[in-house]
Amino acid sequence: MAESTTTRGLPTVAIVGRPNVGKSTLFNRLVGRRRAIVGDEPGITRDRLYGTAEWGGRNVRVVDTGGIIPEDKELIPSEIFRQAKVALEEADAIVMVVDSRTELAAPDIELSRLLLKMGKPLFLAVNKVDNVELEAAAENFRRLGIRNLVPISAEHGNGVAELLEEVLKVVPETKSAESETEDLPEVSDDEGSAVVEHPEASRETKVAIIGRPNVGKSTLLNQLTGTSRAIVSPIPGTTRDAVDEVVERGGHNYRFIDTAGIRRKGKTELMAEKLSVVMARKHMEAADVSILVIDASEGVTALDANIAGYAHESGRSVIIVVNKWDTVVAQAHKMREEAGTPEADRLERKQRSKMRTAMKTADQGEYERRVRENLKFLDYAPVIFTSAIKGQKIEKIFETIERVAAERRKRIPTSEMNRFIEHVDFERASVPISKRVKILYMTQTNVAPPTFVLFTDRDVKLHFAYERFLENQIRRAFGFEGTPIWIKVRPRHKKR
Ligand code: GDP
Ligand code: GDP
Repeated sequence: MAESTTTRGLPTVAIVGRPNVGKSTLFNRLVGRRRAIVGDEPGITRDRLYGTAEWGGRNVRVVDTGGIIPEDKELIPSEIFRQAKVALEEADAIVMVVDSRTELAAPDIELSRLLLKMGKPLFLAVNKVDNVELEAAAENFRRLGIRNLVPISAEHGNGVAELLEEVLKVVPETKSAESETEDLPEVSDDEGSAVVEHPEASRETKVAIIGRPNVGKSTLLNQLTGTSRAIVSPIPGTTRDAVDEVVERGGHNYRFIDTAGIRRKGKTELMAEKLSVVMARKHMEAADVSILVIDASEGVTALDANIAGYAHESGRSVIIVVNKWDTVVAQAHKMREEAGTPEADRLERKQRSKMRTAMKTADQGEYERRVRENLKFLDYAPVIFTSAIKGQKIEKIFETIERVAAERRKRIPTSEMNRFIEHVDFERASVPISKRVKILYMTQTNVAPPTFVLFTDRDVKLHFAYERFLENQIRRAFGFEGTPIWIKVRPRHKKR
């Protein structure tokens, strides 16, 4: 499932290394929960890629790149590096793990060379140093040229805290992605009642197409770029194999992020799945709007929900596209035809029930209800049913992108916000009395995503139900379709 929004903006550290050095074991140590069964046999399941480690009141996001690297002993370092690159790029620090029980060999040297070239804070965890006698062996790895060397035993936990402490010294407290006006005036002077559009709205909308492997992302992309009047040109992106495609439509530019990445497939199904999560996170970073593609024939899976969670957390706007709708329709059609034959009377009860299910599935209203049930936190995201292969609803998708892109840049004047606050009946939010706060005033401090600051009479964290209630009321009054809303609380400091 989606991780909580509190992980938003945390610095990230990536664990990398050759197979079997103990990356997964270290990850489990750091994240503190038992995860996959770690074993010597290759191909063990790693069911998590990201986790959060805590030390001394600080948190850091940990990525185990082992989850996206084939468990192949013959794998050459440049391949390991290439495979892990997306995860390494988003990292604020990198921990390379080596096995102290093996001789320092060429592949380690090669990998460390590639990692050093990235120019990020780099740490060498010499693992499997289970007792003091082995510490001397750790020193052999100095030759790799990585200054920060920490001998550890991931299995027993030795040295792991020291490693984490070293890492925390160099990573920022938070990713400073959000800019926000500090020291807000108590009453803003932006008089007026109209909802003001942000002037940047007309430039270019950056779109990331995200989702599991095989849901139809590439097919959809081809339709979105191919049916347009003009494909401006592929523009080289940030990395070698990343290419953005820009499409002009109705005087508006749409940039589809890193389209080459979409076509890249991992070596195994599991790896491709992990990679789709990393790619989604990476693509979203550069986007305003993400299109989350779901395969209608499969419904919302755990991995869909996982990716959706990252989308929500990222602050990007989301459009849910239920693709391959044609397969659902065809299935229902087939069932209906079978029901019309004379044999239908003799159908087993089980088959009849299967038929009813197929018909129900093919009902878009019913289907949407189920999608929303599974992705509750994305209740603000519009849902579009399509068949990318048939090129359906392309126009509608563009219109929706346009609309949600404008919504996320909308700014509500403080005067209007305060009129709104006066009329919200907070009694209706089912919050325990002790957790209630009085909202003195409220102001929108940012767009993309719309961010609100509440000034309250008491210094308490806003109760979940309260926040939820307030968000719903804001949406009812002002819309903000497709975009998450961030709400922050500040107790008012009495200055005089
Ligand atoms: P990965 O492929 O790099 O993720 O490596 P794993 O975490 O799967 O570990 C590979 C093997 O090394 C497993 O059998 C682990 O139990 C073992 N291992 C991991 N850490 C240690 C350690 O600190 N000491 C010892 N003796 N074995 C370890
Ligand atoms: P990606 O891995 O998410 O980029 O998925 P692809 O675009 O490569 O599509 C995966 C498979 O699903 C391909 O065989 C496509 O032809 C097929 N596909 C994509 N969209 C549709 C659709 O709307 N209907 C049907 N029936 N198949 C589709």
